[in-house]
Amino acid sequence: MAKPTPSLMDTIVSLCKRRGFVFQASEIYGGIGNTYDYGPLGVELKRRVKDAWWDRTVTRRSDVVGLDSAILQNPRVWEASGHLSNFTDPLIDCKTCKGRFRADKLEDAHCLLKPSLHPGECDGELTEPRAFNLMFKTNVGAVESSSSVVYLRPETAQGIFLNFLNVLNSSRMKPPFGIAQIGKSFRNEITPGNFVFRMREFEQAEMEFFVPPDENERWYEFWRRERFSWYVDLGIREEKLRLRDHDQAELAHYSTATCDVEYEYPFGWGELEGIACRTDYDLKQHSAASGTNLVYFDPQTKEHYTPYVIEPAGGIDRMALTFLIDAYAEEPLENETRTVLRFHPEIAPITVAVFPLVKKDGMPEKAHEIEDELRRARFTTFYDEKAAIGRRYRRQDEVGTPWCVTVDGDTLKEDVVTVRERDSMQQARVPVKELAAYLVEARAGWGRPAATRG
Ligand code: ATP
Repeated sequence: MAKPTPSLMDTIVSLCKRRGFVFQASEIYGGIGNTYDYGPLGVELKRRVKDAWWDRTVTRRSDVVGLDSAILQNPRVWEASGHLSNFTDPLIDCKTCKGRFRADKLEDAHCLLKPSLHPGECDGELTEPRAFNLMFKTNVGAVESSSSVVYLRPETAQGIFLNFLNVLNSSRMKPPFGIAQIGKSFRNEITPGNFVFRMREFEQAEMEFFVPPDENERWYEFWRRERFSWYVDLGIREEKLRLRDHDQAELAHYSTATCDVEYEYPFGWGELEGIACRTDYDLKQHSAASGTNLVYFDPQTKEHYTPYVIEPAGGIDRMALTFLIDAYAEEPLENETRTVLRFHPEIAPITVAVFPLVKKDGMPEKAHEIEDELRRARFTTFYDEKAAIGRRYRRQDEVGTPWCVTVDGDTLKEDVVTVRERDSMQQARVPVKELAAYLVEARAGWGRPAATRG
């Protein structure tokens, strides 16, 4: 009997484990529901995603600054933001199998007794939905009482609103301007799943862009296009992405417009990032609750006003997963199938691998020397001298390394190496002293038609 073909998600999950991208957390203790650890390659991938986001959102812009706010905040923050009363999912219980499910995501859940069926499709009796708050609660200090309760932040955004005045007063920013932050968030998701797509502990990249109210629409348009382009520029196939506008029923009561950047995952279209017009809701809520007026004084008009806010909010883990899925390809060659992750070089965990053709005649020493030089030029490198050269190429293809550099007999005589490019598998002879510049240029020209390169 033919073996069943594993689904793309299963293939990605197993590649991630085998090659050190993502491991199940606490694996040797049997794991802990939908919590993951990132291995040596995964942590590089995530770092690249964060760097690329920060570079485009903060470093390259004169109108956005960064922030790193605390995970634990005064609990009144979550009262004012609405999270204590509204950050809930509708939860239902099955009286028969004792499972607990999200009422609005029954299609993603499975009956505990008959896993091939969704809850409600079996004979089990379901309760009415009730609101379940997703915030993790804990206590500060040695005494556990109602006054020591704090929450792990469920989003990074509120830390930004809390620091609106601090940033305004310390940085000479004025609307329109943004404050960006990357950090961990925690949600006690009822039905986590799909690998790192939905976890209880995850990382977010959020930016609050404060604008004069009459510039709200213009900036919303700008940020929805900008965030979509970021994914395309980093190599995600455009046909797998879409911008989906929320209809009136889906909009939060304070939002004038919201859309999601969605990706077509193997399990269907899903939210990758949201871009929301949050109006002046958050600043006004915190002004009223804290007694500190979070307003901007415009020295030209001599008016105080509460800026409107455009918020692009994405998840780093979802981004990393999306880059992985989108990059994955199996490609038939003459005698074999090669697995390749077609990462954009800005995202690839290893940028260049260095091999001696054989493990003798001074080639390993020369290869180490070249690798050291590339490291000093700030490339992430990997040295490999094991197995036949073809196998070494395949191993690098499988983790998405864009270039492999091979040191051979000629290198020792003429100081020239072979550079092999991952996608075309074409090879070029490059003088060692020009190697770093060659790679810098190739990286800068990546994805652009050859005529516009250089
Ligand atoms: P979803 O509808 O999938 O639960 P959401 O609309 O609640 O997401 P937001 O509150 O808008 O999500 O958070 C912004 C981003 O944070 C999401 O677009 C997603 O990329 C990421 N994110 C949210 N929840 C999780 C989670 N449990 N695990 C991983 N990433 C998450």
